[in-house]
Amino acid sequence: MSASKPCNKTVLAGESGCRVVYCHDCRVAELEVGSVSLRLKDDAFRNLSSLIATAVANLDKASLRDGGFYGQDGYHVH
Ligand SMILES: [Zn+2]
Repeated sequence: MSASKPCNKTVLAGESGCRVVYCHDCRVAELEVGSVSLRLKDDAFRNLSSLIATAVANLDKASLRDGGFYGQDGYHVH
């Protein structure tokens, strides 16, 4: 990598440890969770966002229906 000017980045949400940084030059959103960083094109990041929203909605439905994340015998149900 040559010493070109650094990327123009903005923190979209969150704080150190769990945040999303957006690079305007690369059009890439970086999801940073702990030491893990996931780089996604902005449209892929939108897809991930709706995926997570759907998953959370289904998670809430599942926990209401089953009274929790565990089956009646106490084992984790996959
Ligand atoms: Zn960049």
